[in-house]
Amino acid sequence: MSSAVRLNSTLKYILIPLMALILLFLGAQVVWGSQQVNLIVDGVKIEPDVPAYIDHNSRTMVPVRFVTEALGSFVSWDGKEQKVVVKRGNVAVELWINEKTARVNGENKLMDTAAALKDGRTMVPLRFLAETFGMTVSWDNESRSVSLRLPVVLPPSSDKTKTVTVTGSIVNIRSGPDTSLPRVTQVKAGTVLTVIGELGEWYEVDVPGFQKGWIAGWLVDVNEAGREYSGGIGGNDGLNFSLLPFPRSALIMKDIVNVRSSPGANFPLIAQVKCGQKLAIVGEQDDWYEVSLPDGRTGWIARWLTAVVYSPHVGPSRGAGKSVVIDPGHGMTHLWDGSDPGAIGPSGVVERDVVMNISLKLGDILLKEGFTVIFTRHGDTSLTLSERANAACAANADLLVSVHANASTNPQLSGTMTFYCSSREPGQEAINQNRMVLASVIQVELVALLQREDKGVREANFLVLRESLVPAVLVETAFISNSVEEKLLASSEFQRLSAESISRGIKNFFGR
Ligand SMILES: [Zn+2]
Repeated sequence: MSSAVRLNSTLKYILIPLMALILLFLGAQVVWGSQQVNLIVDGVKIEPDVPAYIDHNSRTMVPVRFVTEALGSFVSWDGKEQKVVVKRGNVAVELWINEKTARVNGENKLMDTAAALKDGRTMVPLRFLAETFGMTVSWDNESRSVSLRLPVVLPPSSDKTKTVTVTGSIVNIRSGPDTSLPRVTQVKAGTVLTVIGELGEWYEVDVPGFQKGWIAGWLVDVNEAGREYSGGIGGNDGLNFSLLPFPRSALIMKDIVNVRSSPGANFPLIAQVKCGQKLAIVGEQDDWYEVSLPDGRTGWIARWLTAVVYSPHVGPSRGAGKSVVIDPGHGMTHLWDGSDPGAIGPSGVVERDVVMNISLKLGDILLKEGFTVIFTRHGDTSLTLSERANAACAANADLLVSVHANASTNPQLSGTMTFYCSSREPGQEAINQNRMVLASVIQVELVALLQREDKGVREANFLVLRESLVPAVLVETAFISNSVEEKLLASSEFQRLSAESISRGIKNFFGR
């Protein structure tokens, strides 16, 4: 079976959503006859399974599957009515084939072109949908590219921003300041939200991945104005501070990184450091690390340009000498907006945050077992997937585990799967075998502890796996798009069990 066929069949099963698709596969050009339309989402070129084209109304038409996978929405099809319903966050759009009137949350909207059936596939107007979902759309004639920027709200970082931290375990966000009003989404305990309005006991807040809504004042803690949000270790999950006692270093992952006198890009440059340099972290503020330089001075570097190496305490320990790279999926920032959230569950749980929590718990377990642990990100990062894969090499690590949650347009799909990448190069059989063994031992432990459906060990040509020079696997713990598994993924206990099972798999792999 060719790798293309294999990849296709993998996709059919798992329908990788939003950024998984965008970031894990190489983007490519879309060709339609002699014309090309490039689709670029958050700076990354995406190739849909059938080509985009410009219709007779000069509008870019894309397959409905592109809308679900690349833009992170849910789609249903009503054959009798020839109707497509596309939902993203709290916005529902109804489109009829060959009909220019769409309905957005029940209200009629006139479009400048209509959805169409083409070779049996449903094609939908990209700009209309994207703009309705609050995305920014631009067209570059020279490169014939449509660029989309997904609306993601950054955690508040301005000291003028008032924020609240959610205290209830799962809290409803409503369309207005009253419990009788419709729920628009939900947030979990520990989520930090920016306050944009207040009425009585209610706060109007920005909700990442959605638009805005109202939250009850008795289900949040108000953060004092002037107190800055600190991503820090584990962001807003207080459980993760158990990593702090371990000595840690920043591993420089970009060619040249500036060292500043204070934590901020506007402070004076005092030195520069190079890719691969490892500097002890002696302090942390906001998104900056204070590091000790080879000449004995200290200075500040941006956290998002580094991987972080944690060393176990010295002494007799079972993991001595072994290092593991933990790659918490997603969380890649772009210059113009927030970070890639990964998939978002039906009640608003965000993959980026869930997998960070699992990763931090995994790191904690491995460190206590004596492993050296390298994180490809804390909070958000600007490292590319190649750079994340390279962290293993830069840190001289023994293996890499990328932690994700799965998603599908089919909300019924559930279960656990683990991916590895098989090289087609001759002479790679032993390496492929080793990767497969790593995936298998981790999958076995995940299925045993999480007790979710065993969806097996699979091959995929994911970039972070393909470019890793050490055995690498990508774990899809459970489906965030399934409402039962979404709740599990949001729970601290399920996160701990995921971490525990991955750590057991790793120890088995090393024969201990
Ligand atoms: Zn993912």
